[in-house]
Amino acid sequence: MKRITLVLLAALLMLPTPLKGADRKIQAVATIPDLADIARNIAGDLIEVTSLATGVEDIHAVPMKPSFAVLLNRADVVILMGLEAEHAFLPALLEAARNPRILRDEPGYIDCSVYITPLEVPTRIDRALGDQHPMGNPHYNLDPVAGKDMARAIADGLSRNYPEYQSTFKKNLDTYLAKLDAAIARWEQEAKPLHGIKLVSYHPDMIYFAERFGMEAAGTIEIRAGVDPTPGHIAELEERMRREKVGLVVRELSYPAALAETVAQSTGAKLVELPYMVGGVPEAKDYLSLIDYNLHTVLKAVQKGA
Ligand SMILES: [Zn+2]
Repeated sequence: MKRITLVLLAALLMLPTPLKGADRKIQAVATIPDLADIARNIAGDLIEVTSLATGVEDIHAVPMKPSFAVLLNRADVVILMGLEAEHAFLPALLEAARNPRILRDEPGYIDCSVYITPLEVPTRIDRALGDQHPMGNPHYNLDPVAGKDMARAIADGLSRNYPEYQSTFKKNLDTYLAKLDAAIARWEQEAKPLHGIKLVSYHPDMIYFAERFGMEAAGTIEIRAGVDPTPGHIAELEERMRREKVGLVVRELSYPAALAETVAQSTGAKLVELPYMVGGVPEAKDYLSLIDYNLHTVLKAVQKGA
């Protein structure tokens, strides 16, 4: 860690001083592209947002680059999922970036989980066992209703830092929420064939999606978040999938393919491969198209040969 910090700091020293002045846009860093997209919808031309992840990564293991600390050093705000989703990279980057405005609990730290009621909050936390979800399940971005909460949190966070633009943020928020509401009504109609269908995913990240669209998250290939499967766990999972008639295996694109294929084959379940962030596949170019892509991919798999 010490060496990474030194490399990052060396990179910082080579920087030109950031521009100041009336034309300077709000410099925002989002951890994932979903948040960058929503922030652009809320702040329009007032903001310049860069996402650290491109969307193809595992959010619990986004590789740190020196350029990330540089971006955070210059940022006015950082926009994050929270619930420790970014634990593997954000705390170390914030330390290296030496930017007091965006530290946790400072105004520039915009935590998008503030309006979320987390699911799967553990009764016992044990990071030593590799638990990646110590505050509950942080993959709420896959539920578009939670997307509304994310948009509200971003509008609030930006208004706190830039009260002079509050009415613009509010107006854009209302527009975006109306757009989301219309899409949610359409998605809930489209999702009717999914009701009651059970799914198994590689990582426990499908619970919010499943609950929104009437499905049931019935287990994971990982033993739990961040804990790799053992042969015994897979045997038990497959047995239970056959018994409980689990019809779908979701392989998130940042997780290994072979084991998900084996589990699907040996249980007769259909396999779908899904992005879990904007940018995870080319079709998921913004937040609305991410939900579109995931819902339609699942629907296609379920309806195929049914
Ligand atoms: Zn996770």
